[in-house]
Amino acid sequence: DDIRAELESHIALVPDFPEPGILFRDLTPVFTRAELFRGMVDAMVEPFAGRYDAFAGIEARGFLLAGAASMRTDAGVLAVRKAGKLPRATLAESYALEYGVARLEVHADELDPGARVLVLDDVLATGGTAAATCSLVERAGWEVAGVAVVLELEALGGRSALKGREVFSLLQA
Ligand code: 5GP
Repeated sequence: DDIRAELESHIALVPDFPEPGILFRDLTPVFTRAELFRGMVDAMVEPFAGRYDAFAGIEARGFLLAGAASMRTDAGVLAVRKAGKLPRATLAESYALEYGVARLEVHADELDPGARVLVLDDVLATGGTAAATCSLVERAGWEVAGVAVVLELEALGGRSALKGREVFSLLQA
C-alpha cells in the first residue's frame, strides 16, 4: 500500500557495498524524513500490538528503529550491542558472518524476568543477527515476541534461520 511504495522509493540500492557483488539497501534516506520514518515504525510494531514490553535494537541501525518505536509506544529499548561496549555483566552470543564472526551482547539484568521483547532491525538477510539476538533474549530469561524488519531479502533464507519465531517484514526483495 501507500507506506510501502513511499518506503520503496526512498531506499537507495548501492551496488558493490560493502564488497564487490553485494547490492546494499541503504535506508538512510528514510531516516531523514520524519513522517515516513514515523509511519514505518508504526507499521512495524502494529502487528505485535499488546504483545511486547521492550524493543531490542540491534547496533547500530536497529537503535534508530527501537528508539523511535519506544517514543511511539509504552515500551522501552533493550540495547543489543557489539562486543565490548556494555559496561556491566553481559551475556554474549557469537555468530558466523560471511567472513569471520560477530558477537552481540546485552546486559544480563536489563529487563524483568519474562519481559516480552520485540526485535527490530532494518534488513533481514541470512537471519544470523536476528537469531543471535533472539538467543540472547531467551538466555537472559525474557521472551521473544517476534522479529520485525523493514526489508526481508527472501533469497537469503532469514526466515528459516528464525524457525518458530513470528517474523514480520514491511517489504520483501
Ligand atoms: P543477517 O545477519 O540477517 O545476514 O544480516 C542482517 C544484518 O546485516 C542487519 O543488522 C542489517 O542491518 C545488516 N545488513 C545486511 N544486509 C544489509 C543491507 O543490504 N542493507 C542494510 N541496511 N543492512 C544490511
